[in-house]
Amino acid sequence: MTQLQSVAGQVQRVLEMLNAQGHEAYLVGGCVRDLLMGKEPKDWDVATSATPEEVGEVFGERKTVGTGLKHGTVTVLMEGMPVEVTTYRVDGEYEDNRRPASVTFAKSLREDVARRDFTINAIAMDAGGEIIDHFDGEDDIRARRIRCVGDPDERFNEDGLRILRALRFASKLGFSIEPGTSESIIANRELLKNISGERIRDELTGLLCGRNARKVLRKYVDVVGVVIPEVLPMVGFDQRTPYHCYDVWEHTLVVVEESPPTPIMRWSALLHDIGKPQYFTVDGNGQGHFYKHQIGSGEMAGPILRRLKFDNHSRAMITTLVGAHMNVPTPKKKSVKRLMNKHGEEMVRMMLEFRRADNLAQSESVRGRQQEIDECERLVDEIVENSECFSLRDLAVDGRDMMGLGFEGPEIGQVLERLLEAVIEGEIENERGALIEAAGVWE
Ligand code: ATP
Ligand code: MG
Repeated sequence: MTQLQSVAGQVQRVLEMLNAQGHEAYLVGGCVRDLLMGKEPKDWDVATSATPEEVGEVFGERKTVGTGLKHGTVTVLMEGMPVEVTTYRVDGEYEDNRRPASVTFAKSLREDVARRDFTINAIAMDAGGEIIDHFDGEDDIRARRIRCVGDPDERFNEDGLRILRALRFASKLGFSIEPGTSESIIANRELLKNISGERIRDELTGLLCGRNARKVLRKYVDVVGVVIPEVLPMVGFDQRTPYHCYDVWEHTLVVVEESPPTPIMRWSALLHDIGKPQYFTVDGNGQGHFYKHQIGSGEMAGPILRRLKFDNHSRAMITTLVGAHMNVPTPKKKSVKRLMNKHGEEMVRMMLEFRRADNLAQSESVRGRQQEIDECERLVDEIVENSECFSLRDLAVDGRDMMGLGFEGPEIGQVLERLLEAVIEGEIENERGALIEAAGVWE
C-alpha cells in the first residue's frame, strides 16, 4: 500500500488525552481510508467509548457544542483544528429506510464500525497507528472495491441513501463495486424514492464530480433513473447525424467526463441534452435533427433541479448553461462582446468550457471546433485585459448624460443600448465626447 500519511499532531493529542482518562479512542471512517490510500484526510473523525459528557470533561474549554450533540458528537477545537469526537453508537430503528429514529450508544468499537456503510469506511486506527479492521476493509482498498459491511440488502433497506453513496465512492475513488453489493444496488434501487432531494443532490453531485463518473453513470443508469427518470429516454437514442458518433446518453457521459469537475459544469453536462429525444425530427434524407432542443433541455432542467432542492443561484447558472449551450460566438470580438454583454464574463467563460467538452464528444470530423473555442477564450482575455467596453456599465456615458441631451423615460435605455451596439460594432469610440455627439444626432 502507498506510503502512510501522518496523522496531524492535534488529532494525535485528542486521541491521547482521551486515552489518558481511561477512554478508548480511534480514528474512523473517511480519514483512515484516506490515510491508507496515501491521501491527506480532509477532516478527522474520532470514535470513543467516552460519553459526550465525559468528552466534555476531558476537553473542557476546547470543546464546542455543535448541532451533533444529540447524535453524540462533540467538536473539539485542538489548537485551531476541529476534530469531531463521537461516542460509539449503534443506530436505532430505521424509519422509511431513511435515518435512524433514535441513537443508542454502544459499548464497543466493533458495534460502532458494524453500523457503517462500506468496509473501506469501517477501518479504525488507534493513537499508536495500529489498524483495527473488523471487516477486511484494507483488502478491499487494495482490491479497489466497494463492499457493504454485512448483508447488502439489509444495509440498503436500513438506509436507501447508501445506494448512491456506493456510486459516489466508486466514482470518486475509481473503485469497482463488489458483485453482491452491485446486484443489491440494482435490485433495491426503488428505495431511493424515500430519500430527500437534498441528500440525493449531494451524493449525485459527488458522483458527477468524481473521476469515474462516466463509467459509473453508464453502468448504473437505471439507479440514477429512479431519481431522474428524464435521463432514461437518452439511453441508446440514435442521433442519426454525421455530427455525432455516440447515442445521446453516451455523448452525455463523454461531455460529463470532458468538462471541469465542478458541480455547475457537471450538472449542466448531465442535463444539457435531456430534451433531445422530444425534439427529434428526421429529414427527407433520413438525417436526424434536434432543432431548439437546448431550449427544451433548459425547460426540463429547471424542475429537476428544483426537485433536488438546488439553491437559486446554482439553478440559474445550470439552466442558463443548458439553455444556451448551442449559442457559440464566432471567434470575432464583436460576437464575443455581445455574448459577454448578455451573460457576463464568468458565464461566457463557462459556456466556452462547456462548448469544448461538448465538441470533444462529437464526431471526429467536427472536433476541429476546438481552435475556434481557444480563439474565443483568447478574445475574452484580451477584452478583459484591455478593459474593452462590452456592457452598459463600461460605456463612457450614462443615463444622466442622456437626460442632459433631452432624452426621457424609456428612450434613455434605448439610446444607451444603441450607443453600446455602435461601440461593440466599432462604429464609435467609447469616448464621452464622441458618444454625446452621436446621441445628439439621434435625438
Ligand atoms: P468523504 O471523504 O467523502 O467525506 P467519508 O467516508 O468521510 O467520505 P462521510 O459522509 O463524511 O464520508 O461519512 C463519514 C463516515 O460515517 C463514513 O466513512 C462511514 O463510516 C459513516 N457513514 C456516513 N454515512 C453513512 C450511512 N448513510 N450509513 C452508514 N454509515 C455511514
Ligand atoms: Mg467525511
